[in-house]
Amino acid sequence: MFVCAQLLINGKFEDASGGKTFETMDPRTGEPLMTVAEAQAEDVDRAVKAARQAFDHGPWPRMSGRQRGNIMHKLATLMEKNTEELATLESLDNGKAYSAAFSIDVPMAVEHLRYYAGWADKIYGQTIPTDGKMQAYTLKEPLGVVGQIIPWNFPILMQAWKLGPALAAGNTIVMKVAEQTPLSALRVGELALEAGLPPGVLNIIPGDGPVAGAALASHKGIDKIAFTGSTEVGKIIMRQAAENVIPVTLELGGKSACIICPDADLDEAVRGAHEALFFNHGQCCTAGSRTFVHESIYDEFVARAAKLASGRRVGDPFDRATQQGPQVSQEQYDKIMGLISTGVEQGAKLETGGKRHGERGYFVQPTVFSNVTDDMTIATDEIFGPVQSILKWSTVDEVIRRANNTEYGLAAGVFTQNLAMANTISRALKAGTVWVNTWNQFDAGVPFGGYKTSGIGREKGEAALSHYTQTKAVYMPMAEPIT
Ligand code: NAD
Repeated sequence: MFVCAQLLINGKFEDASGGKTFETMDPRTGEPLMTVAEAQAEDVDRAVKAARQAFDHGPWPRMSGRQRGNIMHKLATLMEKNTEELATLESLDNGKAYSAAFSIDVPMAVEHLRYYAGWADKIYGQTIPTDGKMQAYTLKEPLGVVGQIIPWNFPILMQAWKLGPALAAGNTIVMKVAEQTPLSALRVGELALEAGLPPGVLNIIPGDGPVAGAALASHKGIDKIAFTGSTEVGKIIMRQAAENVIPVTLELGGKSACIICPDADLDEAVRGAHEALFFNHGQCCTAGSRTFVHESIYDEFVARAAKLASGRRVGDPFDRATQQGPQVSQEQYDKIMGLISTGVEQGAKLETGGKRHGERGYFVQPTVFSNVTDDMTIATDEIFGPVQSILKWSTVDEVIRRANNTEYGLAAGVFTQNLAMANTISRALKAGTVWVNTWNQFDAGVPFGGYKTSGIGREKGEAALSHYTQTKAVYMPMAEPIT
């Protein structure tokens, strides 16, 4: 395994200015894992200048879309060939189960890059009829240098979601990776160079949010900023973008409602709601963190949900039987344990879990609360951990109103066998994605993003390309009107 735990700037791995470094921690033990260069404002400035040089004078935006697509395909293939290594880095750094990193995160990142490689030669404008002796057409041009800031919960996948549309459209990039999980992204940067990405097209800077992230988001030299993370930081990013009058896209938090109707297949619904919450140790912005269950099946559902959660296999992420590894950091562990205590204090019934698993590392027992009411903190705040909150509902109008009664609007879902009910509820939910009798489907071609404070703009699909291109209109006189 080979990782350059340095900054990637202008095609070279190098130390941060002043030799600044930080340590990533091993979530299994809480011990240091690796020393990584920590980007400072001066490094961000060098990275932005390298990206500017690569955009203004380098080959990348001048290549044909097909040539860019070919390089992206090569990168996807190299990532695929190195799946084991990338999945290992992902598990080491993040704590996620290796089996999931190997079979979900890395293959989805590869597919994502392939999907956008396919778009690279299909980004074009229109010819538009006009009055008089005039022809008009539009061009879809890249924006220039884009800043991208990504979180720790799906490091390699979030990187691919951001890289795909930006590269396909011909932009150059400065990417700030999460301080908890920089390793897989740096390895992908190295593979990108091997695939033939010209120097300066992709610059990767690990570092602290308020230092490197803030320096990037406020830099006068970027033409767009894209961010995934907390709503709190998203607001800061948006203010900084406003100062520079640049476009901003945000993927933020969520408190997604998973509605179980009385006619749902109970086994499927219990399993579906379980995976909706516990997948990736609950560290998903789309986590189904409010499970609304109809009163007629409530007690039976709670009993089955608690049994399923207590049987979830928690342990070393490299054990192939493990379903849940440690949480990513001490900070997240403390936050989750604090919210579990708040749930108990506010009167929710702890059905299972609620404690540390094992004796070291950031492991949390899969936890299920019943008798949760809408005003409890565990029903309003994003927990980002393996904690299922089960609420009771009586009428459809009521559950729709309560599901929508949140500042967030990232995702939602419904389990029912009644098609009309599925349609009614899907249309009424105020969320960017709605799943029916399923959860966490993320096809590369389907747009993903938030309503309300869950974000601005869309990732994935054709929709994401519009955030990485700008439209130029060209008018040209004609000898005669067009017939
Ligand atoms: P965060 O918003 O603090 O961090 C996300 C990214 O932003 C990281 O790369 C971080 O270094 C950077 N950052 C932090 N402060 C910054 C600043 N002032 N300027 C610029 N960049 C900055 O999120 P977190 O602390 O990693 O996680 C906290 C919460 O964020 C979670 O509990 C969850 O609610 C949310 N979250 C959401 C998603 C999502 O996909 N929507 C992903 C991860 C975390």
